Amino acid sequence: MSERYLLMIPGPIEFDPAVLRAMAITTPSHVAPDFIAVFGQALDDLRRVFLSQVGQPFVVAGSGTLAMDMAAANLIEPGDKALVINTGYFGDRFAAMLARYGAHVVEVKAPLGDVPPMDEVETALREGGFKVMIVTHVDTSTGVVTDVAALGRLARKHGALSVVDGVCATAGQEFRQDEWDIDVYLTASQKAVGVPPGLALLVASPRAIEVFETRRTPVGNYYADWANWLPIMEAYQARQPSYFGTPPVNLIYALAESLRQILAEGMEARFRRHRTISQAFKAALQALGLEQVPVRPDAAADTMSAVYYPDGVDAGLLGRIKENGVVVAGGLHPAIKTRYFRVGHMGAVTASDILATVGAVEKGLLALGYEMQAGVGLAAAQEVLANAD
Ligand SMILES: *Cc1c(COP(=O)(O)O)cnc(C)c1O
Repeated sequence: MSERYLLMIPGPIEFDPAVLRAMAITTPSHVAPDFIAVFGQALDDLRRVFLSQVGQPFVVAGSGTLAMDMAAANLIEPGDKALVINTGYFGDRFAAMLARYGAHVVEVKAPLGDVPPMDEVETALREGGFKVMIVTHVDTSTGVVTDVAALGRLARKHGALSVVDGVCATAGQEFRQDEWDIDVYLTASQKAVGVPPGLALLVASPRAIEVFETRRTPVGNYYADWANWLPIMEAYQARQPSYFGTPPVNLIYALAESLRQILAEGMEARFRRHRTISQAFKAALQALGLEQVPVRPDAAADTMSAVYYPDGVDAGLLGRIKENGVVVAGGLHPAIKTRYFRVGHMGAVTASDILATVGAVEKGLLALGYEMQAGVGLAAAQEVLANAD
């Protein structure tokens, strides 16, 4: 069997060949002038991708979970109140993490496949005293997107810092850190940022840094402590050598190349491309009679889709889709784990990739005896793509 598969999961994604080639250099010293220039550029460009001019970028070896841990460890002191807007799997993880650092955690839970009602969020915030509010931008277990701009406004109104987990969203789903006044936006390299796994990325607002700097207690996590990393990031931004923990030099070359590509496309064009490709895929799903986990179109993300198996079809569909050259992901949300599958469409994804994916889903469904007319999904996707040109 061929080794050529199209990887369409919600991370890791298909990486651009130039990004992979950028990693393949012989590893220079982490204080070599060329590397300092590349790391400095990557930090400057990360801010541009987050649409922030005033934020402090951090790039640290680790996965997205470390970026979450950094936000929690540096902003929370024992006894602080934290509000988690919980839309699924990663909201649960954030709540557990905050509690580990001694936070008093209150959760507003969304119904499965939906966002929590704004009035419930406001009622919770009005109770008062919350130091931070945590939001998952795109919940990877449900494909639900939250209204980060509106939630951020609510947090600000009630005096809470806003922390947004953008791991399945950043650089694909629309986000404007300064304009939306979000205090911490965090992600990982392997999703829409388009770099192999291994980098935790975040940008913190001046307000978040100030809250960190006026802590009364030391950060309860040595590796994640901003006191260790802030001077390092500032040094690379100033194109100066420095050391705390050895940076993943080759991955940072790849990050610099991917951020360069992202900015060359332009953020507005990139948001539009993700929207169009997502709508094409979702139109195909609808034409095939498949139901999505997000309960309304405006609750559905642009970077991924979560789809119920139709009657008579089960997780065996995943193998059939793979036989047709495309890898998609199984379920993640514990309540419906075996009843749905997930497709990532972010980063370097193209219109042709999404058509290949629709074609593979159609062939898989046909092989399992699902009643449908071959090509109806493809036609629906093509129509969306054609109208967007
Ligand atoms: C993938 C993901 C994470 C975890 O990232 P890792 O790199 O796997 O640690 C956290 N939050 C969201 C929304 C994700 O999609």
